[in-house]
Amino acid sequence: MTFALPELDYEYDALEPYIDAETMKIHHTKHHQAYTNKFNAALENHPELFEQTAEEIIADLASVPEGVKGAVQNNGGGYVNHKLFWHILGKGAELTGELKTAIEKDFGSVEEFKKQFEDAAATQFGSGWAWLVVDRSQGTAKLVISKTSNQDSPLTDGLTPILCLDVWEHAYYLKYQNKRPEYIEAFWNVVNWNNVAELYKEATE
Ligand code: MN
Repeated sequence: MTFALPELDYEYDALEPYIDAETMKIHHTKHHQAYTNKFNAALENHPELFEQTAEEIIADLASVPEGVKGAVQNNGGGYVNHKLFWHILGKGAELTGELKTAIEKDFGSVEEFKKQFEDAAATQFGSGWAWLVVDRSQGTAKLVISKTSNQDSPLTDGLTPILCLDVWEHAYYLKYQNKRPEYIEAFWNVVNWNNVAELYKEATE
């Protein structure tokens, strides 16, 4: 048994013009496929790990055998991070309901939340990700913005990511070149808030 490249539930051109079809196709079929293959290869000699979900493996990275821990951190991280990224992309859904209320409670306003998320995405030096996560470490569920380097996942820190933005150059360079801030701004047009709200509900139940 191995982990499979997740299918997208939309076409590569579905996010145009904000994220172009060529970038989506290469990102999914080349980059995500490579993380998937290398993740599987890293687990080859540790088949017992396939009994867990990929997310469970990354959340419990400390238990992964030392010899493959780095490969799992990078490639298993790449596997789960992109899986979430594809899931929260899509057009046409508005931010409403309980998630909107929680964002207003924890950040003051939707505008302030977006500003802080954009800051995290813009200031992540080099390759990495910006995140909206649910933090339950203090007992109650709190929404927090964070950023990680390379393919590190908030799951490893005990957090539950519900929204993410890939700020590796491979995610935007074809269309935006060095203009990462324009890519970050365009991102808000292609967030599938219905799926983010569902993840929020699951994380806070
Ligand atoms: Mn990527």
